Amino acid sequence: MILYEEALELITAKARPLGVEEVTVLKSAGRVLRADIKSPLSIPPFSKSAMDGFAVKSADVKAASPDNPVTLKVLEDIPAGFVGKFAVKKGAAARIMTGAPLPAGADAVVMVEDTETNGDSVRIFKSSPKGKNVAEAGEDVKKGQKVLTVGTVIGAAEMGMIASTGKTKIKVGVKPRVIVLSTGSEVVMPGKELKKGGIYDANGYSLTGMAIERGASAKFLGIAPDRKGALRKKLERAGDFDILALSGGVSVGDYDFVQEILMGMGIKQLFWKVFIKPGMPIFSGTYGNKFVFGLPGNPVSCMVTFELFVRPLLDAMLGKKEIGPKRGRAILLNDAIIKHGRRKFYRGKLSIENGKLHVDLYGRQESGVLSSMVECDALVDIPAEVRELSAGTEVDIIHMG
Ligand code: AMP
Ligand code: MG
Repeated sequence: MILYEEALELITAKARPLGVEEVTVLKSAGRVLRADIKSPLSIPPFSKSAMDGFAVKSADVKAASPDNPVTLKVLEDIPAGFVGKFAVKKGAAARIMTGAPLPAGADAVVMVEDTETNGDSVRIFKSSPKGKNVAEAGEDVKKGQKVLTVGTVIGAAEMGMIASTGKTKIKVGVKPRVIVLSTGSEVVMPGKELKKGGIYDANGYSLTGMAIERGASAKFLGIAPDRKGALRKKLERAGDFDILALSGGVSVGDYDFVQEILMGMGIKQLFWKVFIKPGMPIFSGTYGNKFVFGLPGNPVSCMVTFELFVRPLLDAMLGKKEIGPKRGRAILLNDAIIKHGRRKFYRGKLSIENGKLHVDLYGRQESGVLSSMVECDALVDIPAEVRELSAGTEVDIIHMG
């Protein structure tokens, strides 16, 4: 039996980023950027008005006040998307809309609320220093500047940022192909009739969901009963994959022969059994550059071990900057007595109390209680030697998702 870090290291040491493909920015949400994005232009590309109002020479309106307004001649109207025809000379102004380019000669904008139009002229009631209500060219991004770096996960802001540089396509990491297979003679496909002693398959579904949520493509192969031949046959027909995630049959029961079958098929073992709870019986191996996981059958152990071991591998394959789930600290809301001497990853629910992040080690922590996974948004990472925790203690947490 090995420690969590040792097991994880065995995986990450072998993990390599997969290939790169081009996608349109509109379809890039959730994908991982694989080439830096530099802006070929300044953003904004020109100095523009940040308000509806009048483009002026700041020197002209320096003394303007409600009691002492300054009258300027209005040269023209400049709507957004149009360029002014005239330069603003001393004693003149141009009516300008938000987003329109500041005309030559002008160096400030007075907002419309501080003005009064009168035929061809405008009365200005407020001074506007140089640069006021003007967004300078390149204020946001300078021409040639790097706006996003390789390994970034594309979200809404990133999509907008890339689009504002004029690009429509980007290079992202190819999605790892995850194949999911459940094992167990008692496990029944949802939608089918439940026989006596049978349970519906939870793992095939939760693993498929986790794989997709964490950036992979997933194919659910169904269920193999606890018969060596049946499992081997399913695996032989699995098709191509980057990660094979099996669940069940990795313990020491009489019908647990997933590890034996995998080894018999030429898979090289990285580890089998890790000193953690839940999820101790996890098996991991490689087949060329493919990875195979035998995750424990208990639905909670299955999901937790996926997050602890498969998720970092997916991140590495995708070429992410940050590998593995996000870690943090939170204050415990309740006392806890811990029976186990293994490294624990217990389910928790996060909340903010008095402005600080807290975590509730709620309810039942048994590995079969899947309903507790629905509430869970963090795992509390408890060292092996810790047997008792009191409310108010700060603990390490792993954000799920
Ligand atoms: P195993 O790891 O095969 O010993 O299974 C441990 C426990 O998890 C047993 O109670 C199994 O019935 C249950 N189990 C195994 N696979 C699944 C599955 N796909 N969905 C729900 N429960 C499962
Ligand atoms: Mg089983």
